[in-house]
Amino acid sequence: MTDGQVRPVVVAPAAVLSTVAEAVDPLDPEVARLAADLVATMRVSPGCVGLAAPQVGVGVQLFVLDVTGHRKARTCHGLVVLANARIVNGSQWKVEREGCQSVPDLTGDVRRAGRIVVAGQVPATGELREVTTDAFEARAFQHEIDHCAGLLFLDRAAGAHAIHPRKIYQAPRTGAPPTPAGPSALP
Ligand SMILES: [Zn+2]
Repeated sequence: MTDGQVRPVVVAPAAVLSTVAEAVDPLDPEVARLAADLVATMRVSPGCVGLAAPQVGVGVQLFVLDVTGHRKARTCHGLVVLANARIVNGSQWKVEREGCQSVPDLTGDVRRAGRIVVAGQVPATGELREVTTDAFEARAFQHEIDHCAGLLFLDRAAGAHAIHPRKIYQAPRTGAPPTPAGPSALP
C-alpha cells in the first residue's frame, strides 16, 4: 500500500456520520488511496485501533483496523482493510465500554458479539476476504461496520445511563505519545 496522507477526523454531529455509506468498487484506485489515507490517519491518532471512511468525511463503505498489541485483544489479524464489509455471523454477545474518535467526549456501554465472521473485499485486488475473530477485534469490526451504516456507538448504547463522560487524555510530559485514559479507545 502506498503512503497515505493524514486527513482530519470529523466529529458528531457531522451528517456524514449518520448517513448510510455507499458501496464502493474495490478496484477503483481512489478507494485504494483513501484506504492508505485511513491507515495514515489511524497511525497518528493515539489509542486509535481503526477508522472508517465516513470519519474522514467520505461516505463510502471502507474501513481500516489494527488491534495489534491491544491488551484486550485475543485474536489479532494485524492491519485489515475492507470495503463493503458485512457481518456474516455473530454470537457470544457481551456488553462492554467503548469510545470513538468521532465522539471525543463520551464513552458508552455497547452490546456486541464476542465472536464474529466478517466478509468484505480488499481494495486494489478486489479479493474476497472472510475474517473469523473474537473479543476486542470482533468489537472493533462491528464498530467500524456500524460507521459504514451511519451508526455510532451512541445509537447502540442502551439509554442515557449507558453513556459516560470520557476522562481527559493525560499526556505525559516527556517521552511516549499520549494514551487514552479509561476504557479501551475504539476509533
Ligand atoms: Zn468510531
